[in-house]
Amino acid sequence: MSQTGDSKQACAETFNHDHKTCKQEALKKAEKLCLERGAQLTPIRHKVLELIWDSHEAVKAYDLLDRIKPFNDSAKPATVYRALDFLIEQKLIHRVESMNAFIGCNHVEGKHDLLLLICEGCRQIEERPATPVMDSLANELKQAGFTARRKTLEIHGICKHCADGAA
Ligand SMILES: [Zn+2]
Ligand SMILES: [Zn+2]
Ligand SMILES: [Zn+2]
Repeated sequence: MSQTGDSKQACAETFNHDHKTCKQEALKKAEKLCLERGAQLTPIRHKVLELIWDSHEAVKAYDLLDRIKPFNDSAKPATVYRALDFLIEQKLIHRVESMNAFIGCNHVEGKHDLLLLICEGCRQIEERPATPVMDSLANELKQAGFTARRKTLEIHGICKHCADGAA
């Protein structure tokens, strides 16, 4: 049951919040961070970030391209991909590997190792720092002498909100 376009209704308990404010804050934070880092948050990069923050659902690159067209009809796939690369580099968004899609990062100032809980019902994704899990994972990697390039755990399932709704 997809509820695309109605993110307010689809808001899971953890996302039971004023998403407009949430999005504005995320964008403000990103602007501030880029300024501090001397990174160029160009209009197109800003627009891509804004579109990703439209909801807490993961967005695919080609959907972004569709959505960006009304604002910038010269936008090419490469433009969008370059903007995504920049946003990933700046740790403002996450790539959800298992879905080949992107979500906005809700803790841009924090550590970037994380747990993504992906709901198959409402399609919302909750990002959790899960420090104890990540610490023991780091420990395990150290013992194995393995250098991780990327450390994101993606878990698919049903969120509390959807489970309660089904009951
Ligand atoms: Zn939100
Ligand atoms: Zn994050
Ligand atoms: Zn859900």
